[in-house]
Amino acid sequence: MRMSSVNVVAHPLVQHKLSLMREKDRSTKSFREILNEIGMLLGYEVTRDLPLELVEIETPIAPMQAPKIAGKKLTLAPVLRAGVGFLDGMLALMPSARIAHIGLYRDPDTLQAVEYYFKAPQDLSDRTVILMDPMLATGNSACAGASLLKARGARDIRFVCLLAAPEGIAQFQSEHPDVPVWTAAIDERLNDHGYIVPGLGDAGDRMFGTK
Ligand code: URA
Repeated sequence: MRMSSVNVVAHPLVQHKLSLMREKDRSTKSFREILNEIGMLLGYEVTRDLPLELVEIETPIAPMQAPKIAGKKLTLAPVLRAGVGFLDGMLALMPSARIAHIGLYRDPDTLQAVEYYFKAPQDLSDRTVILMDPMLATGNSACAGASLLKARGARDIRFVCLLAAPEGIAQFQSEHPDVPVWTAAIDERLNDHGYIVPGLGDAGDRMFGTK
């Protein structure tokens, strides 16, 4: 099967904001705000190919056929807890989207993703689902999240992260070759604890100030 595409969003605003987030002394408040902003910018990129349809509208001057997004059946699927950091930014662009919450934690010994919560629209088969988790490290959470969404019928899934490790990309592509990936950067590698190097540390802790 064909491998999923990996799209690195090289836009200067995204790159600049990502560098700010990597700085170890950046405050929780600032980290959270910037993650939100990048969420919006990545949301713009990941929806670039949504189909449009022409609909009849009237401007104050004349009637016209104007393009609008066809269907509008979008679902945003953050992996708890760090994925929530993208949510407000994405919702600012897609305010009518449904939300699927995916509760996964990383077992500290095995680094495997353990499911503790999953609440999504019943049928995802006719929806575009944007799965989001800032750090694609081992790939275990992203893979588990995509599998849960597929079990609900999702066929058009797009995965958005902030940083990816080559190991995580390889794992994700082997398990979900049909799901394209958007990321702001691909870093060097994972360390022995499954953290991305150079990375930005633990995204959840930095966002919620829990360390
Ligand atoms: N999760 C994080 O928050 N950071 C990493 O570097 C890897 C996984």
